[in-house]
Amino acid sequence: MEHLLKGAPVAAAIRERTAKEANRLKEAGIVPVIAVLELGERADNAAYLKGIQKNAGLCDISLRHMRLPETASYAQAEEALEALNRDPAVHGILILRPLPPQIDEAKLCSRIVPEKDVDCATDLSLAGVFEGKALGFAPCTSQAVMEILRFYEVPLSGKKCTVVGRSLVVGRPLAMMLLAENATVTVCHSKTKDLPAITRASDLVVAAIGKAAALGANCFAEGQVLIDVGIHRLPDGSLSGDIDFAAAEPLAEAITPVPGGVGAVTTAVLLAHVVQAASRQ
Ligand code: NAP
Repeated sequence: MEHLLKGAPVAAAIRERTAKEANRLKEAGIVPVIAVLELGERADNAAYLKGIQKNAGLCDISLRHMRLPETASYAQAEEALEALNRDPAVHGILILRPLPPQIDEAKLCSRIVPEKDVDCATDLSLAGVFEGKALGFAPCTSQAVMEILRFYEVPLSGKKCTVVGRSLVVGRPLAMMLLAENATVTVCHSKTKDLPAITRASDLVVAAIGKAAALGANCFAEGQVLIDVGIHRLPDGSLSGDIDFAAAEPLAEAITPVPGGVGAVTTAVLLAHVVQAASRQ
């Protein structure tokens, strides 16, 4: 197994499959379209959007960006979303989050029609992940982790896997996806007692915490596979994950870098979902 589990070759392999499928659709006169709904303007969303645009161009997917003012009401946001739901030319819808405080995020996301829900924003998609059925699409970040594990042939069956973080967008669905691969899964969170003892005893640790370098050397043992979902801009301008890379890397059998790990694969997964949605529709 490679020591550094870089996202770029994984993303390239996904993009190659996606471009082939998009080409097949093109021959049938269909151009896959992703619509991105944004309220206001945030620097982190701008970077994500730029990544989507670049990747979409590489795969013959069209991007439609709809930006409403930050002060837009819930009714205005829902009206814009419903227009995208009704538009047969739009195959996938992504709502950029977080949304301004006047918007009920869960309510708005739940209005996406299931067949266009390419990033698991609705209960039906999430139920599909938990039931192991293709009811919708898995969250792109969780699936990006699974794509990395598959690409680098990390064994999962019977392995002790710990997911640190239990959010509905990353940790919990990922735990279900690992379980579906016959891993023995432990989910940890902010109230977990003696987290380092649990992570040290694991074959695989996935960090999805949201705190820069929160998992240090005391959390790891030799020979583990470490996947870092976190991404944080530090005061000096550099990027860090949730794992203290300098402390963990010498111990690990394999580890994802930040940047250039999970984040590099997420956008490729999103666009693969858009093409799958277009094929299904
Ligand atoms: P979130 O909703 O804030 O959830 C964080 C989870 O971590 C919660 O379950 C929380 O526990 C747990 N946690 C917090 N501090 C902890 C600690 N000290 N020890 C153990 N568990 C702790 O975050 P998220 O949306 O899942 O995102 C997680 C990370 O992934 C963030 O860094 C985010 O930037 C990153 N992310 C990356 C991508 C990508 O494409 N690379 C995409 C999305 C998110 P409680 O439940 O007890 O509060």
